[in-house]
Amino acid sequence: MLKSRDRKENSLHWERHSSLFQKLRKIRVIGSIPPHRLNPTALGFQANERCEYHSGATGHNTDNCWTLKGAI
Ligand SMILES: [Zn+2]
Repeated sequence: MLKSRDRKENSLHWERHSSLFQKLRKIRVIGSIPPHRLNPTALGFQANERCEYHSGATGHNTDNCWTLKGAI
C-alpha cells in the first residue's frame, strides 16, 4: 500500500503502462524505441508477448517493460 502523501507523485502509475504509453505517444511525449537484442534464454523472456514501446519486439509485454517504466 502506498502512503497517502506518495499518492500524488505516483498518480501516473495508477494507470496501466500500455494505456499510458498510448496516450503519451499520441501527444508526442514519448515514442517507440528500436527493439534491442533480446536474449530468448533470458529470465522472464516470453516469446508470445509483445512490447509496443520496443516497436512490437517479442519477449515481454508493454506492461512489463522496464525501459518504458524508466522512461515514464
Ligand atoms: Zn519493452
